[in-house]
Amino acid sequence: MTTTQEQRERARMVETQIADRGVADPRVLAAMRRVPRRLFVPERLRDEAYCDHALPIGHGATISQPYVVAAMTEAAQIEAGARVLEIGAGSGYQTAVLAELGAEVYALEWVADLVAPARARLAALGYGDRVDLRRGDGGLGWPERAPFAAILAAAAAPAIPAALREQLAIGGRLVLPVGAAAQELLVIRREGARSFSTASLMPARFVPMRGVAGAADAGA
Ligand code: SAH
Repeated sequence: MTTTQEQRERARMVETQIADRGVADPRVLAAMRRVPRRLFVPERLRDEAYCDHALPIGHGATISQPYVVAAMTEAAQIEAGARVLEIGAGSGYQTAVLAELGAEVYALEWVADLVAPARARLAALGYGDRVDLRRGDGGLGWPERAPFAAILAAAAAPAIPAALREQLAIGGRLVLPVGAAAQELLVIRREGARSFSTASLMPARFVPMRGVAGAADAGA
């Protein structure tokens, strides 16, 4: 496949799967047009890279559906230079979209084996110096780097982890799936030191969060 064909496929993905479903932020749409999602999916699935669904990336993880990445990114309101925490970096695709928007990204991934490949992809695409991606438990947040203008999680917790709320800057947004079998993607905004507002973005289906903020049966 030539680069031009791939760019066309990406443009079509953004138009039909993302813009047509109501994601309107032009910066988010432009970032999704630029990041080569193909390089973030396993080689045998590359023909499906721009399809309208999640894909398995090994270790029980999935690269999220393009629309879900776009909707979460829009809801997180990422400004250039913003400090952002990402939980469940997986393939590094969402990480790349955040870096493309100019964010300073702190990314945590539970599965050690996913970390080095994700880092290598991000470095090869030139995002390396905007991203610090490490193996860690996102349920604890990253207190040394807090406060964050935005926190995005790609793994579902049974309840909103207090550590994450506390690591938001005032005005910051936490975009997080909550629930078990039935999940809701929530957008929690820190309105003041002790006040938070919560809105539901959409029903969701993410892998369960492991570690301290996960369900007891999600595996420590
Ligand atoms: N944004 C990623 C999504 C990967 S799936 C992508 O599009 O590729 C969700 C990821 O969350 C999995 O890789 C899983 O290992 C990770 N995860 C689950 N619990 C976690 C935790 N407590 N801390 C960090 N990562 C976690």
